[in-house]
Amino acid sequence: MQNYQHFVGGEVSDLPLGKVVCVGRNYAAHAKELNNPVPTEPVLFMKPSTALVKLDEPLVIPTDLGECHFEAEMSILIGQSLSNCTEDQASTAIAGIGLALDLTLRDLQQELKEKRLPWEKAKSFDGACPVSDFVPITESTNLQNQQIVLRQNQKIKQNGNTADMLMPVLGLLSYISQFFTLLPGDIVLTGTPAGVGPLKIGDQLSLSLSESIHCITEVGSSAR
Ligand code: ZN
Repeated sequence: MQNYQHFVGGEVSDLPLGKVVCVGRNYAAHAKELNNPVPTEPVLFMKPSTALVKLDEPLVIPTDLGECHFEAEMSILIGQSLSNCTEDQASTAIAGIGLALDLTLRDLQQELKEKRLPWEKAKSFDGACPVSDFVPITESTNLQNQQIVLRQNQKIKQNGNTADMLMPVLGLLSYISQFFTLLPGDIVLTGTPAGVGPLKIGDQLSLSLSESIHCITEVGSSAR
């Protein structure tokens, strides 16, 4: 049974669970490391609410479908409905920012890409979206100057800054809302910086988002 609830500022939030809208290749260096072209428009995909788990609890990953990669990303919790919104409207609808892992079955994704099929089996499995608690944003929060660091077994693997996003957060929310209404409780993952790699059972992970979020977790067990 899924035991995930949104936490904002240390408290359980009233916001319901919803969809997770993700952007692929929002950092040029990451697009290049996977030999993908740098896109001219955001690449969007979604994870269902059943993918949500807490990032600070041991992760459960599939181990029989090839490599499962970590992708550390800044996450945005949506507090108000957004449809065809402006960047100003988007800025008032953010209930909090946090960190998430966009867990990806990389071998399966590669196979699906080659067949020009959708990626859901590789990106949307149960537990594919571990998320941290969210922190509310304030006047002084600069969404485009957040340092994302992921350490795997004490070694720094990802160390990027949201300043390097190809499409910044508010533009991204506005863009997404032209295609799908964002509802209160939905989450947006804003893309991963370079340095993604495979996970194995027993790995210790530590993640941080500037000074606001620090999270420690481990890869606990195999899902299947
Ligand atoms: Zn991602």
